[in-house]
Amino acid sequence: MTKELDWKNLGFSYIKTDYRFISHYKDGQWDKGELTRDNRLHIAEGSTALHYGQQCFEGMKAYRTADGSINLFRPYENARRMKKSCDRLLMESYPEEQFVEAVKQVVRANEKWVPPYGTGASLYIRPFMIGVGDNIGVKPADEYIFSVFAMPVGSYFKGGLKASNFIVSPYDRAAPRGTGAAKVGGNYAASLLPGKEAKERSFSDAVYLDPETHSKIEEVGAANFFGITHDDVFITPKSPSILPSITKYSLLWLAENRLNLKAEEGDVYIDDLDQFKEAGACGTAAVIAPIGGLQVEEDFHVFYSETEVGPITKRLYNELVGIQFGDIEAPEGWIEKV
Ligand SMILES: *Cc1c(COP(=O)(O)O)cnc(C)c1O
Repeated sequence: MTKELDWKNLGFSYIKTDYRFISHYKDGQWDKGELTRDNRLHIAEGSTALHYGQQCFEGMKAYRTADGSINLFRPYENARRMKKSCDRLLMESYPEEQFVEAVKQVVRANEKWVPPYGTGASLYIRPFMIGVGDNIGVKPADEYIFSVFAMPVGSYFKGGLKASNFIVSPYDRAAPRGTGAAKVGGNYAASLLPGKEAKERSFSDAVYLDPETHSKIEEVGAANFFGITHDDVFITPKSPSILPSITKYSLLWLAENRLNLKAEEGDVYIDDLDQFKEAGACGTAAVIAPIGGLQVEEDFHVFYSETEVGPITKRLYNELVGIQFGDIEAPEGWIEKV
């Protein structure tokens, strides 16, 4: 039984599905949590999430396969990353095994919202945690809410992969030794204005340079950067203020082991873009967004093409999406059945 939705034309916007999971941390422990139909939270006015940004989140997807089963893609990586975000913000982490179990419960309870195989659509899953409770001073909360909700989202690219243009931002999204590597809302609040200014100039999003020296590419909006050099090396930036993208680490592995490229993390200097024949942004939402051109101050640098996707980027995309939807054999441990 599946919902009657226009699956092929879904975007990325909120849809209220039937159930979400919620668990409370109080008096030093997590309760066992439960599914609820209520999509509203009733929280204390002094909640640390509201005043001091004590919150973090994850983003992942469930995929319907050709045989009708449902795949999660490397969910333990999301569980581990959320723990790291929690540690950075002195929040109570949620046990990894229970995180994955909560995600599965939400997918099962909303099974009819999981898009059919072949539509390119998937079920987007948003786990998050907030500090709550009666509080006013700047200190970690004593109480937390962990919740997971989900909604169907469309394939980012309707008519196939298309390249688009980006612009190097004059702003930073995170400080050199700040919270850039944690998936926390504060980084996103800081990115709204740079993103708006980029879009006003008709670019897809802002590209951030490393906040310390402003000489190296760091992130692309809310996605990681990669480039393919003329001698077929897959390179992606290494920096302590980049959010460690699970998509990026998956592409690194696939580039090396399935496409037989060299693959490495390293410095990507903004004045050395000529080394790349292709470039892209990667993350769960789009998988890969090919970067056509990059505006760097007064210069406009085109990689493969302003509109078309390069052949290596396309092969990487097909390999990863094929694994997620169960059409291509997955590396050990990458797929978790719901
Ligand atoms: C979530 C996120 C990404 C992408 O990570 P994935 O695990 O690949 O989805 C990249 N950059 C930022 C800033 C993010 O928050």
